[in-house]
Amino acid sequence: MTQVIEHGGGVWSIKVPIPDNPLGHTLVHLLDTDPGPVLVDTGWDDPDSWDTLAAGVAACGTTVEDLHGVLVTHHHPDHHGLSGRVRETSGAWIAMHAADAHVVRRTRAQEPGRWLDYLATKLAAAGAPDEHLAPLHAARASGRTRTLPGLNAALPDREIVPGELLDLAGRRLRAIWTPGHTPGHVCLHLDEEHPARHPGRGRLFSGDHLLPGITPHIGLYEDPDDPATVTDPLGDYLDSLERIGRLGVAEVLPAHQHAFTEPAARVAELLDHHEARLSDLRTLLAAPLTPWQIAERMEWNRPWEQIPHGSRTIAVSEAEAHLRRLVKLGFAEAVPGGDPVTYQAV
Ligand SMILES: [Zn+2]
Ligand SMILES: [Zn+2]
Repeated sequence: MTQVIEHGGGVWSIKVPIPDNPLGHTLVHLLDTDPGPVLVDTGWDDPDSWDTLAAGVAACGTTVEDLHGVLVTHHHPDHHGLSGRVRETSGAWIAMHAADAHVVRRTRAQEPGRWLDYLATKLAAAGAPDEHLAPLHAARASGRTRTLPGLNAALPDREIVPGELLDLAGRRLRAIWTPGHTPGHVCLHLDEEHPARHPGRGRLFSGDHLLPGITPHIGLYEDPDDPATVTDPLGDYLDSLERIGRLGVAEVLPAHQHAFTEPAARVAELLDHHEARLSDLRTLLAAPLTPWQIAERMEWNRPWEQIPHGSRTIAVSEAEAHLRRLVKLGFAEAVPGGDPVTYQAV
């Protein structure tokens, strides 16, 4: 069953399934332009997802062979997974922000086990217990690393340069750099009158940056080749959110869940959410804690005991992103000489 939503004004969404994932699907958007139809994201690299995408493109009145280009909001496999196959089938170009193109290049060039080594070392330094590290060491030893998604992600042909109108005759589409969820995440602003004349400045393809019912993961832009650079992805995310809120678009077309209006209200909710997390974290840090202990004590969508292994790893990086923000604002600091490192409020 192909599910295609027509939004009017030459814009459609195609629900492309993500196998075995609670998110369910990626909303791939199709945009008519003078030189041909362009996709915003492509979906997970899986045979069923590909069939759904192809059927969805057909339901929009065109074919995959006729696609002109692919604009990728960010490098994650539920967005960029099928881009290579679309390019092989159609000759379409693939465009991405330079910072995410760098991640794609780096991941392709890396020996696959390197990521697991990096992760195990980093988690140990963050205070992860041995039982959490054991599966990582086991995966490394078994060579299962070749099945990690994203190792063979397609190299983009073009760079998405934020600010200017994109070179897409017949449309007014502008990229806005919104780092936070990934270093090169972009939202795409369709700066045209809303087809149903909703008040506001056009529509926004928001990727994972702004979603109606979930908060995107904010980690640390982990780079095994450059562990020394101190990034502040949560700070980046909050800044980009405020900029998107000020745009005043009429409608948001996100990459998961469903389209929605009144983005400023959603932006305010997300800003409040992170502010509350930062203030709870400051309270927690009355006594010194490792990043792992912080993650155990933070609030998640279920109790810590029920969070599976992979999600715990993600939770620790999310905790560290909040910690990094507090340190940067001068509200917390590392306790000297700790191994694993502990942090305390100041
Ligand atoms: Zn993502
Ligand atoms: Zn996503």
